[in-house]
Amino acid sequence: MAEYEKYLDGSDHPEEIVALAREIFELRRMLWSSHGHTGMYGDDGELQCGECLHEYGFWDWRRTSIAEIGLKIQEAQLKKLAKSDSDGRKV
Ligand SMILES: [Zn+2]
Repeated sequence: MAEYEKYLDGSDHPEEIVALAREIFELRRMLWSSHGHTGMYGDDGELQCGECLHEYGFWDWRRTSIAEIGLKIQEAQLKKLAKSDSDGRKV
C-alpha cells in the first residue's frame, strides 16, 4: 500500500480524490523533509521528528492536522526570531 492510500478508507474513490490524496502526502513529505530539524524518522513511510516532539509537543507530520502543523511552524519561526540579535543576526 502506498503511503498516500492510508488517507483513503479502502473503498473505491474517483481518480481525482486519489490524486489529491497522493499530492497531500507528497506535500506533507516535502514539508517534513525540509523543516530543518534533526532526529527525523521516515524510512517506514512515517513522517516523524523527535526534535518536534521535544520542542513543540508533536512529532507526526503525516497525521497531525495541517492547521496544527502551521501553528507549530509559526511558533518555531517566532522562537528563531527571538534568538536573533537587534541587527537580525542569528546568535
Ligand atoms: Zn522537527
